[in-house]
Amino acid sequence: MLLTRRDFTRLGALGIAAQLTPALRAQVGRKQTGYAVIGLGRIAEHFMAGVRNSTNSRITALVSGHRDKAERIADQYGIPHSAIYNYENFEAIGHNPEVDAVYVALPNSMHAEYTIRAAKAGKHVLCEKPMSTSVADAEAMIAACQAARVQLMIAYRCHYEPTNLRAVQLIRQGALGQVQAIESAFGFNIGAGEWRLNKKLAGGGPLFDVGIYSLNACRYLTGEEPAQIAAFASTIDHDGRFSEVEENVSWTMRFPSGIVASCNTTYGAPMEGFFRVHGSNGWLEVGSAFVYQGPHLRAEFGATKLDEPNPARDPSHFQAEAEHFSRCVQNGTPNTSPGEEGLRDMRYIAEIYRSAGIPL
Ligand code: NAD
Repeated sequence: MLLTRRDFTRLGALGIAAQLTPALRAQVGRKQTGYAVIGLGRIAEHFMAGVRNSTNSRITALVSGHRDKAERIADQYGIPHSAIYNYENFEAIGHNPEVDAVYVALPNSMHAEYTIRAAKAGKHVLCEKPMSTSVADAEAMIAACQAARVQLMIAYRCHYEPTNLRAVQLIRQGALGQVQAIESAFGFNIGAGEWRLNKKLAGGGPLFDVGIYSLNACRYLTGEEPAQIAAFASTIDHDGRFSEVEENVSWTMRFPSGIVASCNTTYGAPMEGFFRVHGSNGWLEVGSAFVYQGPHLRAEFGATKLDEPNPARDPSHFQAEAEHFSRCVQNGTPNTSPGEEGLRDMRYIAEIYRSAGIPL
């Protein structure tokens, strides 16, 4: 979608053009990627706020089972009510030229169906993590997007977050010497009644939802793929929440270089998302590594001590993620967290479950 010179003149007449940021002024005459948001839950709100702050993206359509809620959000974002779809007439987005891409923010097991339907409608797809609930679904999503010649990106927010990227950069520069070991964790104490506790919708327990951040982080921190995986799972609280999915998963990975990683995830305790990397020359840790704001990097290597809080606030992660995908769509360049990246995590998740003795 274009913010045209005519739009700019109109905004000028309304006295609004003068309030546009320099970045927005630079957009005049340039393309903005239009997104249809599918599923108007919690994460969709953060994403839409990030897009609103972005320079190259816009929300142009909504897909929801709740018309009232969709109309309320449409009014907030200046979306015409004619661009509100439901799960039955979803394919009609194919005829909406204002929609370049969809953002899939549904429960995990619905990602595959809506990614494939969107690809068939000719739209690029930004799909939330975890990519799917099975390796077969992830493979089908990639195949559908390839066949339709549309891009597929998995919304691995931390791939676009400056503190996580700084940690990767320090490790690649050799600041820590030879990395030997990594510890990482992420979890929370889940309330009853969540779809996350329904195996059919969620795929499994906390590993699919939040443990995946630690799994993915160990891969981007090492730049390697795990060669061996061993895992345990347990359920301690028999209060009805965990009749379908497990409460805790703990797993270790050995990477080809010999680096070992040890990770935990839970639905039974407020477990801060973090990673700590130990190298021959020192250590590095990022606290609040996976939440929407406030990652904090600390490190000591050689004579260097780092203490770097990140003041960036929600929804900056989502803005960075949307801007990256929009740029890739606009320029026809590959995105940096494609379906193949999501598929790798799905394969490792399947291996962790196999090792823990839990059927998927
Ligand atoms: P949510 O429950 O807040 O929202 C889910 C949306 O899906 C709701 O609007 C709901 O109405 C709709 N929906 C449609 N069919 C449904 C069904 N059968 N059951 C339940 N809901 C249904 O969930 P959320 O926290 O926004 O999570 C959505 C997706 O986003 C999940 O895949 C989750 O893993 C992912 N997520 C990503 C991040 C991140 O930081 N990248 C954070 C949270 C969630």
